[in-house]
Amino acid sequence: MGKIALVTGASRGIGRAIAYELARSGLDVVINYRGSEDKAKELAEEVEKLGVRAYLSRFDVSNPEEVKNAIKDIQENFGDILVLVNNAGIARDALLLRMKEEDWDAVIKTNLYSVFYVTKEVLPMMTKARWGRIINISSVVAFLGNFGQTNYSAAKAGIVGFSKALALEVAGRNITVNVVAPGYIETDMTANLSEKVKEAFIQNIPLKRAGTPEEVAKLVAFLASDDASYITGSVFHINGGMYRG
Ligand code: NDP
Repeated sequence: MGKIALVTGASRGIGRAIAYELARSGLDVVINYRGSEDKAKELAEEVEKLGVRAYLSRFDVSNPEEVKNAIKDIQENFGDILVLVNNAGIARDALLLRMKEEDWDAVIKTNLYSVFYVTKEVLPMMTKARWGRIINISSVVAFLGNFGQTNYSAAKAGIVGFSKALALEVAGRNITVNVVAPGYIETDMTANLSEKVKEAFIQNIPLKRAGTPEEVAKLVAFLASDDASYITGSVFHINGGMYRG
């Protein structure tokens, strides 16, 4: 049996690619999802074809009770989680003057509070094992800002501060905490952008294209591996050169 990784929001997009890549590297994976059950099941089948175990776990990362119950269930029925990828996220864009409080709350809760809820429940397993890898998915907009995304940018910047502080707290237990900050990646989240907005994004990317979920997944898999043993508290930009840290 390999080590177990939990990837939140693994039914689609970047999370799906991360779960698959971690499985390819020999980890057993817990596939968290909220609504896309068929897609999560499909991924579990793909993962099992690679010869590792998969476990489906439906919970809303923004609901602390659901998180607690799900992590307990995973520990009892699948095993201890030693690699955690906090990936689940949503966007609810609006200019600040028009932003509804519910859109602010939904984005902060789903993208930032979730990282606190899930990490807090998983951490004792890593502490006990004296080994762990936590990788939090932020965004380039945490560093650049973006029109209509005060909520999303605030949540993604919050993840950076959280990760740097936690890296200090858990280093003594051989647990690393790092941030991956993707730029413009082709997923359902970015599919709704108009062609004009997409074109404008690409103009600002030196590599002149969007990134793929698989490219992000390769970086995450490296950070989750034993080879990344001396890296903690760091932010990794993966954005085709649009922001260079
Ligand atoms: P998608 O919209 O393609 O997928 C989002 C995933 O998150 C889905 O699997 C969805 O599950 C899950 N999810 C959403 N809300 C919840 C919730 N409350 N509880 C559990 N799961 C949830 O997004 P991306 O793949 O594009 O984004 C993944 C991460 O990467 C996000 O954190 C995003 O902010 C970040 N990111 C994305 C960029 C991009 O350009 N695409 C750029 C920078 C960062 P389900 O469908 O089952 O509900």
